[in-house]
Amino acid sequence: MILGILSEPASENRVSVTPDTVSALLKLGVKEVMVEKGAGDRAGLTEAAYSQQGAHPASSTEIFAKANILTRIHPLDDSQIKQLSAGQMVIGQFNPLADREILQPLNEAKATAFSLDLLPRTTRAQAMDVLSSMATVAGYKAILLAATHLPSFFPMFMTAAGTIKPAKVLIIGAGVAGLQAIATAKRLGSVVEAFDVRTAAKEEVLSLGAKFVEVEGAQESAAAGGYAIEQTEEYKKKQAEAVHRHAQQADVIICTAQIPGRKAPLIILKETVESMKPGSVIVDLAASTGGNCAVTENAKTIYHKGVCVIGDSNLPSSLPRDASAMFSKNILNFLKLFFVKGEFKLNFEDDIVAATCIAHEGKVVSPRING
Ligand code: NAD
Repeated sequence: MILGILSEPASENRVSVTPDTVSALLKLGVKEVMVEKGAGDRAGLTEAAYSQQGAHPASSTEIFAKANILTRIHPLDDSQIKQLSAGQMVIGQFNPLADREILQPLNEAKATAFSLDLLPRTTRAQAMDVLSSMATVAGYKAILLAATHLPSFFPMFMTAAGTIKPAKVLIIGAGVAGLQAIATAKRLGSVVEAFDVRTAAKEEVLSLGAKFVEVEGAQESAAAGGYAIEQTEEYKKKQAEAVHRHAQQADVIICTAQIPGRKAPLIILKETVESMKPGSVIVDLAASTGGNCAVTENAKTIYHKGVCVIGDSNLPSSLPRDASAMFSKNILNFLKLFFVKGEFKLNFEDDIVAATCIAHEGKVVSPRING
């Protein structure tokens, strides 16, 4: 089997497979690794670094003509889909729950495509979980971004020029990104509080030394596989009131609340933003799915009545070297499902293989998409 690493769109700095994964792929049973020229440049990963590990630089046309397995973080664009041949395998993070339009062309091309954002949240799948890896990066970077936009310090300072109070940070959604944001905000010395609709999140928040904001009456479902579900109107009202009270005290709010495949819940109302201290910062990681904050503009930093609102759902691209390394390890671990003692085999009996497959012989396999 030959694996081809495709370059990403111009707005993306990451690359799906990094040089340090190439030798592991070759040991796994991949016969040859081709890398599209310049694919790793924006992540600081040169052609020489790939070559040293045994990958060959190639053009996109050569890769589509020769490779059996293609890797790309972002969905293939129309011109790339036209170059696919039947049975060619594609692996990436294609967001099919929100963007179903990707399904038809991949299936018409008779490609075999796997979208790693459909991985089940099981222990066995953890090492392949691109959502967790990228949420870790996003949560960390969100705090750094907030710190550079905030007109005050994060930590407390006791100086000859007086005492500086620590910044107060409110985290909305204590999943993977939220917990990493808490840990990073604590490391910078701020006072942190967080809330989530899942009761399991409370213990995790407390274990990181942050305060958990309780809003009673949240709905949970065991069938949601560890994810949050849509809340009742009554709860949303109570939650908005609690957020309004806590936002007035906060210097920074990090929004991470998401519901897979749906619009992000609206949690910070316009009047809440307007009640915040001027100079406060909101970083909305849910911007691309509508945002948790009413005034968020996706992919933009705006000022609303003196409050800085950063709408950025692609923070992993701003830390491309480590984000790519994590993504790459996730792909390597996923490919281990297909290579048994060096032999390649597609096994749809495996729940992870079936769950992530969005195209095979013209049909969607994933029960979550077919659902
Ligand atoms: P996510 O990105 O879908 O959502 C982020 C957080 O927002 C979640 O904690 C969610 O509960 C919360 N949220 C949603 N709606 C909300 C609302 N209205 N108000 C407040 N908070 C709201 O979730 P995620 O970070 O990817 O992970 C969710 C869960 O899955 C966590 O329990 C995590 O530990 C678990 N997980 C398990 C595995 C695994 O076992 N393989 C891997 C990753 C995550």
